[in-house]
Amino acid sequence: MRFINIHSISTKIIILLVVTSTLFIVFTFSMAKNIFSHGFEKIVYEKMLITQDTIIPQIELNLSYDFTLPIVELGNDLLEDKNILLLKIESKKLHTPLIFTNALKKENISSQYTTYKKLYDPKTKKEIGRLTLMYSTNSYDNYMQDFYGWIIWGIVGFLAFILIISLLLSKALRPLSNLAQEMKQFNPFEPQKFQLKEFKDDEIGSIASAANIMIENLRKYIQHSDELTAELSTKEVHLRDAQRIANVGSWEYNIVEDILILSDEVYRILGTKLSSHLTFNTFLDYITLDDKARVKMILENAIKKGSRFNIKYKLIKQNSKVIHVRTRGKVRKKLTGEIKLTAVTIDITKEIKNKQTIERLAYYDALTNLPNRTLLQDRANIALSKAKRNKSKFAILFLDLDHFKLINDTLGHNVGDELLIHIANQLKNILRQSDSISRIGGDEFIILLSEIKSDEDASIIANKILSTLNTEHQISSNKLHISTSIGIAIYPQNGTNLEELMTKADTAMYDAKKNGRNNYKVYSQVMSEHINNVILVENDLRASIQNQDDFKVYYQPKIDTKTSNVSGVEALLRWEHPTKGLIYPDEFIKIAEDNGAIVSIGKIIIQKVIQDISELNKLSFGELKFAINLSAKQFLDTTLIPFITQLIKEYDVKASQLEFEITETLSMQNIQESLSVMNKIKEIGSSIAIDDFGTGYSSLSYLKQFPINTLKIDKEFVIDMTQDKDDKTIVRTIISMAQALGLRTVAEGVETKEHVTALTLMGCNELQGFHFSKAIPFKEFTAFLQEYNS
Ligand code: C2E
Ligand code: CA
Ligand code: CA
Repeated sequence: MRFINIHSISTKIIILLVVTSTLFIVFTFSMAKNIFSHGFEKIVYEKMLITQDTIIPQIELNLSYDFTLPIVELGNDLLEDKNILLLKIESKKLHTPLIFTNALKKENISSQYTTYKKLYDPKTKKEIGRLTLMYSTNSYDNYMQDFYGWIIWGIVGFLAFILIISLLLSKALRPLSNLAQEMKQFNPFEPQKFQLKEFKDDEIGSIASAANIMIENLRKYIQHSDELTAELSTKEVHLRDAQRIANVGSWEYNIVEDILILSDEVYRILGTKLSSHLTFNTFLDYITLDDKARVKMILENAIKKGSRFNIKYKLIKQNSKVIHVRTRGKVRKKLTGEIKLTAVTIDITKEIKNKQTIERLAYYDALTNLPNRTLLQDRANIALSKAKRNKSKFAILFLDLDHFKLINDTLGHNVGDELLIHIANQLKNILRQSDSISRIGGDEFIILLSEIKSDEDASIIANKILSTLNTEHQISSNKLHISTSIGIAIYPQNGTNLEELMTKADTAMYDAKKNGRNNYKVYSQVMSEHINNVILVENDLRASIQNQDDFKVYYQPKIDTKTSNVSGVEALLRWEHPTKGLIYPDEFIKIAEDNGAIVSIGKIIIQKVIQDISELNKLSFGELKFAINLSAKQFLDTTLIPFITQLIKEYDVKASQLEFEITETLSMQNIQESLSVMNKIKEIGSSIAIDDFGTGYSSLSYLKQFPINTLKIDKEFVIDMTQDKDDKTIVRTIISMAQALGLRTVAEGVETKEHVTALTLMGCNELQGFHFSKAIPFKEFTAFLQEYNS
């Protein structure tokens, strides 16, 4: 079946040949047969007519003369022609018709012609008889048989010819189908493997070579398109990478046909699978509810106008994570009615987060998350304009934790940080939403109380803060006690801008600290004057440190209760101010301590005292003990001991002639360090006295640890002891306690004879006070010694 293909050219040609030749044969046959038979009949008929025409005159003549014999002879002669079947002559002159027949088998006579002809007398022209002639057409059948045989042979020959033609044709066309078969093998994905076989140099060969050229071209085309595809896919990879790196996804939406084409990155941004089919509406469903309506409106607007658009909004990713994106694009409208929306969507979450972080860093304190000074300024500006408009008040509270540095130094910065966070949270809880707290550094907080009705309101809040914070705080494993000092400034009376209000609140806070901490102060003019004074004093101190002679040492004697002699002396600092005259320590020591100038001033005093000791030693009053006051900053200064030892050597005085007075609060602040300094003082041979004893909270157990020699009973107790029973009890207790610990006691502020009697009775060792002498310059002191000890 494979070989007989109805559509093949050879089959078609053969069928056409067979059909047309069959039709031709049938036509030719029928035509030939017709022509032949007609022709033959005509010939026979004409032959018969000729015969008739030949014999009729002879028969007519003989009949007119009644000659029968010649007619018989003629008849017999005529029968020589085998085709003449019958000759019949009828005449009135004859009794019977003359009949001549050829003795032929009847069955052989398939067809015949019969003619009748009248016979006339040649002279009279009268009818004398009739002639019948019967002529056989049998010879025609034979003739036709030959014709048929001839035709059949012709057809057979023709069919044979067709067969040969078909074979030749199919042989000639076989390479063509081979070629077709081979060309079917062409695989566009492996064009190199394909090569047509050699074909003869004929028409098919030229088709084959044309096909080879075509395939070669095709191969080049495939190669070229492969290169293009490779280039395209490289570009696509680049584009994909670039989109990925930039977090940019691109998409195109054909609005009319509702076809959405998304780049891979869009799927990644959405966190969906590449295979998931997204329509424009499902794409919109990823937008957060609060943004959706806005995005839709902008897009619809852009579509209506055919304009560009640029939208920032949020998407909810497949994993419910919310991200920020920006979509930029344009709408293209074509005359054909096509509307396309082309856009890029960028994941800007990091950018937004960074911006938020930067904003946070710019506006919030990283540790406590409270607003910083910048944000405070913004809020203060709002509060200011509101207060101006409504003619209302607002307050600025300046908070500073008491002794926070101590926590940082002893427990570490982590604990300090945690405490600050804890306090920030507590403050948040106390305050209203409309108030704002900010940390402006270290342990300093600023609270803006918006809309207070009266100054009282600020005080109420300050009290609330104090009581809330002044409790035990559990920070990590530590139970911490912390107190706060608060300064309050109120708009409009204390200032009209934040800067001014903050300065005033700071001043008030400073005053609160000075007032024993753990309290609040509302700003007043006096505080400012104080601050201004501090600044002036600081400046003048700086100048006097340059000119050491402005500092003078005055000496106050101490009287031994047993011997009633001067047993020692306390060196007290006086400042001879170049313009203001003599200034007492109360007016500048605190300031010098606060700004650290006390360290330099202290060294000036120590040097002057040691100088005076060596001077006094020359005057043979015995080796008097000189007490020098040390404040915390001096005491903890590491250069102190080397400085003293160096001077002792230089002036050749005994270290045992020096006693250092430190307050009990100082020694309690940092016990370990104090202990180590005290031990060093003991090592070099000097002694230590605890000054202002009774005002602090030192306990016996601490005192036992310290290598101290003397307790100095604070003058407050001594001065009042004769009127105040409690003070008297305190003084008595201190003395007996000191005795129990083996310490000497010095009472200061001894102003009256009663003081002397009472203290002597109580067993106090030494007395110091105006009753004997106030502090006097060295020269006067030597005169006093001279007089008193003699
Ligand atoms: P302090 O160490 O308690 O010194 C005793 C203070 O009491 C002296 O005041 C002295 O003049 C005063 N005083 C003495 N007897 C009486 C009395 O009978 N009644 C009254 N009401 N007061 C009496 P001054 O000299 O003004 O010193 C005040 C404080 O200044 C001292 O208190 C001391 O803490 C500090 N100070 C004085 N000189 C120095 C110094 O050289 N270095 C340091 N760091 N501090 C000093
Ligand atoms: Ca003292
Ligand atoms: Ca004192």
